[in-house]
Parts: sequence; C-alpha cells; structure tokens
Amino acid sequence: MIDAVDAIVGGGAVRRSLPTRAKRTIGAWCFLDHFGPSDITGQAGMAVGPHPHTGLQTVTWLLEGEVVHRDSLGSEQAIRPGQLNVMTAGRGVAHAEESPSSHPPILHGTQLWVALPDGQRDREPAFDHHPELPATNAGDWSGRVLVGSFGGVTSPAKVYSPLVGVELTTSKQASAELALDPAFEHGVLVVEGAAAVGGADAVGPDRLVVLPPGRSSLDLAADGPARVLLLGGAPWEGPLVMWWNFVGDSAESVERARADWQAGRRFGATPFLEVPGATARRIPAPPLPFGRLVSRT
Ligand code: MN
Repeated sequence: MIDAVDAIVGGGAVRRSLPTRAKRTIGAWCFLDHFGPSDITGQAGMAVGPHPHTGLQTVTWLLEGEVVHRDSLGSEQAIRPGQLNVMTAGRGVAHAEESPSSHPPILHGTQLWVALPDGQRDREPAFDHHPELPATNAGDWSGRVLVGSFGGVTSPAKVYSPLVGVELTTSKQASAELALDPAFEHGVLVVEGAAAVGGADAVGPDRLVVLPPGRSSLDLAADGPARVLLLGGAPWEGPLVMWWNFVGDSAESVERARADWQAGRRFGATPFLEVPGATARRIPAPPLPFGRLVSRT
C-alpha cells in the first residue's frame, strides 16, 4: 500500500503515487499524479507553462473540467472527461497545459507517464487525442480502457510495452472479480470514494494498492460510489533514470536534455521547442542535484 505524497506542479497541488520510495514503477507506468477536485471559479485554473519531456509518454485523463494541451509539434487540443491525450515525447517535445479562459468550475484529473523502452526512447515525438475510449463492464463496475486490453476491448492508444490502464467506476454498491494478466504487476489507485482491493479493508482516495505479478484475478468491491484506476504492466527491466521531466537510460542522457532545454537548443532533429499559443511562462529546469543521477527501478 502506497500513500500518495503532496507535490506542486506548475503552481498547482497534486498527490503523487508514483514514483515513491516504496515503489518506482508499475510496469512502464513511472509517474502518477492526481489533482483536484478544485473549484477554479474566477481563477486561471491550470497554468502549466511550456516545459520539455524526453523518453516517456504523458497520459492525461480528466474526471471533471477542461484543459487545453499545446505542444512544440503545433498541436492544440482541448481535453474533457472521457477523452485521452497521449503525448509521446521520444527524443524531445515541449508542451503546455492550461485551463481555457472560459472553463467549467471544477478541475479534477490525473496525469500519468509511461517510460519508453530501449529502442523507442529516442523515437520521433507525437501527439494523439482519443475522443472516445472503449467501454466494458466487470461485475457491477463500469470500465473505460485507457491503455491496453481489458474485459474484451482494446484501447486505440499506442504504447510501446505490455501495459494496461483501466478506469473502473460504480455509482452504487459493487463487486467484481477482475481478470488480470499474471505476467503483469498491478496497482489499484482509489480516486474517489472507497474500494476494497483483493478482499482487504476498503481504502480511500490516493491510496495505491500494489500487487506483484502472478495474479490472474482480483476482487474489487465498494459500498457506494467509487472510482479507481487499475494500472498494470510487465515489470520494468533495465535502467530508468528519471529527473524533473526527463526519462533516460543514463545520467548523461538526462543531463544533456536539461542542458538543451536551458540553452533553447533543439532536441535531435525536431523543430525548435517553442509551444505556439501558450500563455503561461516557459518553465526553466531546476538545478541538477549534487552527485550523480542514478537509475532507480
Ligand atoms: Mn508535462
């Protein structure tokens, strides 16, 4: 069981369940932030200015509200609940995420990162918006498949390692025996309400229940309205150096990405990392820590 820790992203408060000291990754899922619900009536709301990413995919899933994504590829895309944004950073991309000037009162959502494996880390950056995702049911739970396959349906989102991500919701008392891939490790994050995972006592929001590989089913129960994220994947093999917004296979690759961003240089052959249309300010990289960045998996 992992308790989320408080963090600040672009001035906004989030609860972070991955990475933590206790658990760095679940499969290639290497970052899990939950923000809100926040009443942003009369406020700017989300205002995360241009910042870079390398070696990962960002996966944005909103529960309430609206956010506009802009990136250095020229993408400009509003996202609303039920839709998925997947930005593949590859060798380097910059993006900004901002509430539109006229926005719904409540902002509530999650952002996840997926580490790219060897051979994919330096791929061309890309951005994909999925306006609809496949629905399924598990017992009394309604499922929406963000990534991978679950309950007989498959998400259109492109990922580069064996992975699953499913939102399960119920408006009433519910139970189910979920079928899992025993090759995967899994995590269940309660986002709203409370849920009992694997027959244990029910836990509330921002508790991540971690399940090692070897499990082919999982009991999931709730006494009332609840929402959880089920994440899974083949345990990560090999190096994973994460620092600020970068994922790499070595300290050098991350330090190079930082230096490029600070100098306003290009990453590889991609266009200049300007984010057209962003209004929030460009975010400089923080100083590197003392000592050497190390791989933590
Ligand atoms: Mn970002």
